[in-house]
Amino acid sequence: MATSSVKRVKSSKSSTPKKSAGATSKARSTKWVYLFREGRADQKALLGGKGANLCEMTRLGLPVPQGFIISTRACNAYFEEKGLPRDLWPQVLKALKSLEAESGRTFADPSNPLLVSCRSGARFSMPGMMDTVLNLGLTREVVQALAQKTGNARFAWDSYRRLLQMFSTVVLGLEAHPFEAELARRRAFAKVENDSGLTAETLREVAELFEQLVRKETGADFPQDPLSQLRLATEAVFRSWNSKRAVDYRNASGIAHDLGTAVTIQRMVFGNTGPTSGTGVATTRNVTTGEQQLEGDYLLNAQGEDVVSGTRTTRPIRALADDLPALAAQFSKLGVKLEKHFRDVQDVEFTIEDGTLYVLQTRDAKRSAQAAVRIAVQLVKERLITRDEALLRVTPDHIDAYLHPQFEPKARKAAVARGDLLAKGLNVSPGAATGAIVFDPDTAEHRGGKDKQAVILVRAETKPDDVHGMLAARGILTSRGGRTSHAALVARQFGKPAVVGISALEVDAAHKRMTINGRTFVEGDVVSLDGATGEVFAGEVPTVVPAFDDPALLTLLSWADEVRTLGVWTNADYPRDAERARGYGAEGIGLCRTEHMFFEVERLPIVQDMILSATEEERYRALSKLLPMQRADFKGLFEAMHGLPVTIRLIDPPLHEFLPSHDKLLRDVVNLETQLKVTGPNVALAERLAREQRLLTAVENMKEANPMLGLRGVRLGIHFPALVRMQVRAIFEAACEVKKAGIAVYPKVMIPLTALESELKFTRAILEDEARQVIHEQGVKVRYQFGTMIEVPRAAVTADQIAQLAEFFSFGTNDLTQMTFGISRDDAETGFLLEYLDKGILPENPFAHIDEAGVGRLMELAVKKGRQARPTLEVGICGEHGGDPKSIAFCHRLGLSYVSCSPFRVPVARLAAAQAALTS
Ligand code: PEP
Ligand code: MG
Repeated sequence: MATSSVKRVKSSKSSTPKKSAGATSKARSTKWVYLFREGRADQKALLGGKGANLCEMTRLGLPVPQGFIISTRACNAYFEEKGLPRDLWPQVLKALKSLEAESGRTFADPSNPLLVSCRSGARFSMPGMMDTVLNLGLTREVVQALAQKTGNARFAWDSYRRLLQMFSTVVLGLEAHPFEAELARRRAFAKVENDSGLTAETLREVAELFEQLVRKETGADFPQDPLSQLRLATEAVFRSWNSKRAVDYRNASGIAHDLGTAVTIQRMVFGNTGPTSGTGVATTRNVTTGEQQLEGDYLLNAQGEDVVSGTRTTRPIRALADDLPALAAQFSKLGVKLEKHFRDVQDVEFTIEDGTLYVLQTRDAKRSAQAAVRIAVQLVKERLITRDEALLRVTPDHIDAYLHPQFEPKARKAAVARGDLLAKGLNVSPGAATGAIVFDPDTAEHRGGKDKQAVILVRAETKPDDVHGMLAARGILTSRGGRTSHAALVARQFGKPAVVGISALEVDAAHKRMTINGRTFVEGDVVSLDGATGEVFAGEVPTVVPAFDDPALLTLLSWADEVRTLGVWTNADYPRDAERARGYGAEGIGLCRTEHMFFEVERLPIVQDMILSATEEERYRALSKLLPMQRADFKGLFEAMHGLPVTIRLIDPPLHEFLPSHDKLLRDVVNLETQLKVTGPNVALAERLAREQRLLTAVENMKEANPMLGLRGVRLGIHFPALVRMQVRAIFEAACEVKKAGIAVYPKVMIPLTALESELKFTRAILEDEARQVIHEQGVKVRYQFGTMIEVPRAAVTADQIAQLAEFFSFGTNDLTQMTFGISRDDAETGFLLEYLDKGILPENPFAHIDEAGVGRLMELAVKKGRQARPTLEVGICGEHGGDPKSIAFCHRLGLSYVSCSPFRVPVARLAAAQAALTS
């Protein structure tokens, strides 16, 4: 069986440690096997989610075909001992006896056969990632007897060929293709669309052919001993825990690799015995939109995997009321009961056997971000859960997905008018995406992952083996499958836009081609899709971020605001960002990086003139040109924030960043010199050459071996006081102007990269002087503060001294992480850091999540010492970590005043801060 490397695990969903407890098997009298009536819903770690919920439904008296569960502990023991633990099989046999007694049938007894399924089921649901074998216990002898006994030969042979097919691929590891190809050939020959149209005779021939195939490929007969079938299937399901797709899925979902899967052995009930039988999967509410209605698919006369695999076009669950009205009503009532009991939306798998309804599985339904938010709020209103529970059920990623793009309405209209709307499929995972189409998951992974291209993965249907490609794609399109198809489930979970079941789409993966409503597209052609509406367009349709006004989202976030103690501010450089962030609920600006304004086209030459100035006078002239521009910038920010705190950081980067690179300048100088030689005297060229030469000299003079540790931050202001004086003047002139216009202002001036108390003393004196001067000139009272970033380890360690002069701290955890580790972020993240993560030398990227053991300890010390010296000290964070939920939880524990993050992370941070307050 293919395995893939077990990559680093961020954490399991319930912060299960990488090595979880109880993962070994040494004890002699371990209980490995549990009857359904012996377990409970809260035993998911031991019995898997599926197993535990079957036990719970048994306790509730619901119509569950009975069975037993081999525990996750047994799975781990199987890996450790490289085989089933010695005392496990006797327990299985005992449980089987009990099942026989209960069902009044005997396992694989031709006169009255009990048949069973063998299904995987881990603690956290991993839909379709592990294996299942149905119809175990069927042998040639039993098939014939079953055909006679039921008078339904078609059903008997269909069940046997399914067992042969599943067993061969899952247990014996044979290729699926020859089996599928044979069925396809038979369907074509019989001129029927799906397998339910094949006759008993055909299916018998197919089964015999499958038996021959097994003999040819394995050199042995298909096992006719039912207990060996059961045992081999159990081991294969255990092994499927470590299949490549399962490992990839766990890596992507942050599920620990040592949890193991349980195996559920359950009496088979059959959905393929005729027209009053069937099988289906439905969610108790719409898990794409959150609407309160059953949603799902079913098929009559079909078994197990037919619905989820997308190989037959399913019927929507609504239609069950037409086909089998009494059962539809019974199922609907059952859904309500399950929701009430489990206090969440359920994803229910059912089978109808000759008019009797059975539930085979229930689990909390995976849902889109919108559905997660809306359902959480609904459940509170229905008094099924509390507000706090609702806040904990929605994840920060759900909120993030809310801010995903949709088609820009006008662009969409234009695309429709152009005739580019190709088709509409099922809208199963919201968000709009545009990209080049690819037809196989490896190409999607290569282009989308490694090469960072926008690709759309197009498949007839997806399979668990496609997951790596789905994760790397921007969006997913399939021609088959329903709302509960594999593609839909995976897409929703990972927030990938997806449209499935597009009947107009024909996929020819072998030739990397697709036809959709008569138009043909080849690999690399661009399409756009909207997973919220189900629309698919030819070409690129521009997208916009959705309006942030879903009443459920606003309600949920208002509950979050009531609970959280951390403030949520934003990093914004421009008024439009500030306005957006305020709309998202930001309570202040925690960082305005003023240097970004210097990079604007019309300003850069002035900044360069300032840097090149030979005299103070020249420098003053350049700064006077910059002053009104900066004043206008700050005015815009103050107006946008309307009295909320606005933290403006003085210039930080080394000045050479404002100049062209040394190599470019050298090339330009040489080129200009050559041109001048050719043209002879030319005033314009000579002037350009002179400027380029001056820039080159300046760059050479400024050259530093390690600029990020060089003349930057507070050091710049000490070296060029006039520059920061200009900035402070601009801040206070803007503040006074805005205040005069009747708008409250609260500027906070922040000094970057401070390491020494004396640096702050020197700088603050100059800046305070300028501030007072402006306030005096303007005759306006303005409340303001001077503070510093804490981004150099020395500042953290001497925070008590720094706090004597700083009225607030803001952790610059980007630099603090770089300097604590001695790692350059830009170089590391594209180089050795990846190797560190792959080799497990670092458990996670410290630039994404605060390194609590190192950087975190410095922060803790700084908070403690800072507040000892100045009890009212406000302490925030404005590094990238300010928008990371895990780091936000840490900041909450440290007692910070606020986190500051990019505008799009503000809603995420509001929820994360509430969750931190609820769980710490
Ligand atoms: C930081 O270092 O965390 C910070 C916010 O500053 P910058 O990223 O601009 O260096
Ligand atoms: Mg910094």
